[in-house]
Amino acid sequence: MTRINRSRRKRTLVHCFVSETGIASFPRKRESSTGVGTANSFKSVLGSRFRGNDIGKGPSAVTPLGGLGIAETMKSVWCPTFDNRIRTLLVVLILASLVATSAFAADKLPNVVVLATGGTIAGAAASDVQAAYTSGQVGVEQLLAAVPQAKKLAVMRGEQISNIGSQDMNDEVWLKLAHRINELTAMPDVDGIVITHGTDTIEESAYFLNLVVRSKKPVVLTAAMRPSTALSADGPLNFYNAVAVAANKDAAGRGVLVVANDWIHGAASLTKTSTTAVQTFLSPLSGLIGTVAYGEAEFYRGPVGRSTADSEFSLDGVAALPRVDIIMAHENMDGKLIEAAVAAGAKGIVIAGVGNGNMTQTALDSLAAQAKKGIVCVRSSRVATGRVGRNVEVNDDKLDLVASDALNPQKARVLLRLALLKHRSLADVQRLFREY
Ligand code: ASP
Repeated sequence: MTRINRSRRKRTLVHCFVSETGIASFPRKRESSTGVGTANSFKSVLGSRFRGNDIGKGPSAVTPLGGLGIAETMKSVWCPTFDNRIRTLLVVLILASLVATSAFAADKLPNVVVLATGGTIAGAAASDVQAAYTSGQVGVEQLLAAVPQAKKLAVMRGEQISNIGSQDMNDEVWLKLAHRINELTAMPDVDGIVITHGTDTIEESAYFLNLVVRSKKPVVLTAAMRPSTALSADGPLNFYNAVAVAANKDAAGRGVLVVANDWIHGAASLTKTSTTAVQTFLSPLSGLIGTVAYGEAEFYRGPVGRSTADSEFSLDGVAALPRVDIIMAHENMDGKLIEAAVAAGAKGIVIAGVGNGNMTQTALDSLAAQAKKGIVCVRSSRVATGRVGRNVEVNDDKLDLVASDALNPQKARVLLRLALLKHRSLADVQRLFREY
């Protein structure tokens, strides 16, 4: 090691590391005069090339400024023989490589496209503690700007698909959304999609997309129960977590996902269970796909049923979806609403039955009469959880009815609408309810 005097050291800008694997040089702040400070700056500058534990630790560590020791495997030496031009050149090269490295790191962030549709996550109220508010007031750029932390997770860009409360969700928005997701996910530079949506119908939209999106890339819906202006708004963290999941390679191939309140739900399994609570979504029958806490995701399993790239459904050439109505069963139910639905143009009917998809004998007679005429009739349940099985208390075989299996009425309606895009036997429709 070459000793140099203090005045020379002050002029010296370049500090060379000599290790067994080569030389790494970098500009060094003169003020760094302790081993600890040196180690920290090494860690931040060099990252994994040197292990932090090996730096600034005991006699075998790299020495702090002043060149007071020599590491066994890594020597810190001053290089007084370099002339100024070489030093300057080295500094320029090092700075250029650092800039290139950080640019490369930014390039390596996944690209996530945010498609905004409205909902309470984009809602606003007159004050931060009032229940009354209006959905769909905030645009996608404001949503992105409200969560700058997410920029560390992904390179994001936003598109406004609609700005509506999801109680107003409709086929036009669904078709636009699905077509746009299929376009975007086909692009090699798009790694994942986040969709901001209202909570009211998010389960239907997620399930629809689960059936018609062709890609295994992460497609993640998120929402909020409290408007963006509320005290303790839940939207920002839900959005942050959704971006983290969409940017996560491990999310791929798990079907369309819904991220809310730290939980990752599958599109087929989640349902809204509370009108007002932040913890509104549950996947009661089959459980969660995973969890996500401040962007750290854990995945437990794949999707329930066939989905996305494994789905047989396609929207190619589809301009409109057939009408399917849901009718809720209740005490003293008659068949009038069933008849009215068919008169209004329904090609399919879903009964939100009592218990295991049951209804009064009068309603059942009316339903069976429509089924004999070719209206596809599905028995689901108004009960929050559980399957509806074939031929349990109702003879589906004899009455030409379909049992919804694990799908609640609102998702049974989505599947039936897609099923009715082509002519199918009842056995084939029943197969769909088993497989999706
Ligand atoms: N009505 C709102 C919506 O679905 C509720 C929400 O987003 O939480 O758009």
